[in-house]
Amino acid sequence: MKVLATRHFPGPAFDDLEDVEILPLGELSVPRPDVEALLVGNEPVDDALLDLLPSLQLVSNFAVGYDRIDVEACARRGVAVTNTPGVLDAATADLAFALLLATQRHVVEGDRQVRAGAWVGGWADAVLATEFTGSTLGIVGLGRIGTAVARRARGFELRLLYTRRTRLPEAEERALGVEYRPLDDLLAESDTVTLHVPRTPETGGLVDARRLALIRDGGCLVNTARGDVVDEQALVRELVSGRIRAGLDVFVHEPRVPPELLGLPNVVLTPHLGSATEAARHGMTRLAVDNILAVAAGRPPLTPVA
Ligand code: NAP
Repeated sequence: MKVLATRHFPGPAFDDLEDVEILPLGELSVPRPDVEALLVGNEPVDDALLDLLPSLQLVSNFAVGYDRIDVEACARRGVAVTNTPGVLDAATADLAFALLLATQRHVVEGDRQVRAGAWVGGWADAVLATEFTGSTLGIVGLGRIGTAVARRARGFELRLLYTRRTRLPEAEERALGVEYRPLDDLLAESDTVTLHVPRTPETGGLVDARRLALIRDGGCLVNTARGDVVDEQALVRELVSGRIRAGLDVFVHEPRVPPELLGLPNVVLTPHLGSATEAARHGMTRLAVDNILAVAAGRPPLTPVA
């Protein structure tokens, strides 16, 4: 099967592709009737691109989120779409915790202070943080990654609130130690909030200005989901005012970060690092390649998105 990949994806599984050409999508301008599979990292796949690939059978996405792939346009043409669920849950949940702790315990702010030679007082003079252990964490989207976050929360003795469209059966809530709340109540009751919903038409701007205002004074919002699940400009206003804190791994126009955030002490910024561990990224390539190999062999794809 002739594969077009937008880059060399990490890990040994990439070498299992026998007929692969590396070409960034921006450089694809003439029809390519030879291409049967496309391997992308959540780059835009739309009708215009599909027009250039009349023999395409599969879009294999190296990511669990596939919000930039027009799945309906693919379906109309009989093109399957796959993603890489599961293999990045631990990495992304770990990063959400890293951001929660770094933000709440002023880790990056402290690091900057030390490096700038601005640590002048003794150890007893630090600005005091809010205790994280024993606090209330709201998990927005309790799927694979949200559940991995809930499991990690036990060691911190957190009270866990969660929201999603379909509430879990009571026995599952008990086993995970989570209490259901509608989103507005969750935002108002939590000390920290972490977002784990996919970007869908329903979740675009889910945390808007009104909902941001529900977060407690001194509360913290961590976003490792997608930038535009939050109204970014409203979030910038809240952060500039200093009322809340935030740990952000994702942004609306990556790699652009709102410039107002760059000098703020109450926000920790990372460059979309959620799945950036060797195990996760190699696992993603393995699954993305295995989806291609399955379709090439005439079998159903392993992880179709719908
Ligand atoms: P998942 O297993 O599908 O979980 C998504 C959860 O969100 C489910 O609990 C779902 O439950 C809930 N949900 C969906 N729509 C909702 C809505 N409108 N309101 C409230 N809850 C809603 O997905 P996942 O594998 O955990 O991944 C989640 C997202 O994380 C991905 O889509 C991706 O965008 C992002 N991600 C980012 C990184 C990174 O590098 N920063 C890495 C991996 C993933 P219901 O269906 O019952 O609502």
